Amino acid sequence: MNIILFGPPGAGKGTQAKRLQKSRGLIQLSTGDMLRAAVAAGTEYGKKAKEIMEKGELVPDEVVINIISDRLEEDDVKNAPGVIFDGFPRTVAQAEALDKMLAEKGMKLDAVIVLDVDDDALVERITGRFTCAKCGKGYHEKFERPKVEGVCDECGSTEFTRRADDNEETVRQRLEAYHAQTAPLIEYYEKAGIVKRVDGMASIDEVTRQIEQVLDSLS
Ligand code: ADP
Ligand code: ADP
Ligand code: ZN
Repeated sequence: MNIILFGPPGAGKGTQAKRLQKSRGLIQLSTGDMLRAAVAAGTEYGKKAKEIMEKGELVPDEVVINIISDRLEEDDVKNAPGVIFDGFPRTVAQAEALDKMLAEKGMKLDAVIVLDVDDDALVERITGRFTCAKCGKGYHEKFERPKVEGVCDECGSTEFTRRADDNEETVRQRLEAYHAQTAPLIEYYEKAGIVKRVDGMASIDEVTRQIEQVLDSLS
């Protein structure tokens, strides 16, 4: 089963993808995570992507399309029961490239799960977001604190990081990019009849429950 978790920045895509990875063995493919890894490693395209990401704009289509295309060729992905696209596609050109790639590999998209969240809530979610530096588990100052203050629930690390682009100004720019370039994709997938809407304003557990319900209805 291959799905897209779709929604604006801060909607909860990463949080939910990690839960589905655990519950169903699906593999999370986050272009944002892959780009941040390239930036940290200082690769050629990482250097180019860094500035664009700090401004809250989209990196060129060909860059992310190549990243995804390469990732789909790796053994763990090939052997998995399916993948979760998180943060990809973000433009019509990316969606078209994805359709082509999947067709070539004999794969198909089963659902595009749209997480609907208001812009004001997104700003609050993103400005309060932090992540375990060791295992990548996501947290929120208000909505998802570690069970023991300052200690990661998953791995026990006491080091946490915040993303350079998770500040209010960049968030506004990212939301603008979302509404202008990414939201129109919902219509693209409506035409394919695979859009499923979930109330992204609900609690993290409730959103998980709604997504699991959608996935159960597919299989
Ligand atoms: P995305 O991957 O869509 O950008 P994240 O999954 O990183 O979003 O979530 C953004 C922030 O909001 C994180 O700090 C996360 O803990 C928190 N969060 C995620 N889902 C919810 C929710 N349903 N209610 C409240 N906070 C949430
Ligand atoms: P979020 O969902 O919280 O906005 P991501 O981690 O998905 O964040 O993306 C962070 C940044 O990485 C984006 O603002 C953009 O600059 C870049 N990026 C990630 N995925 C894509 C993509 N599919 N196309 C273009 N740029 C992307
Ligand atoms: Zn951790």
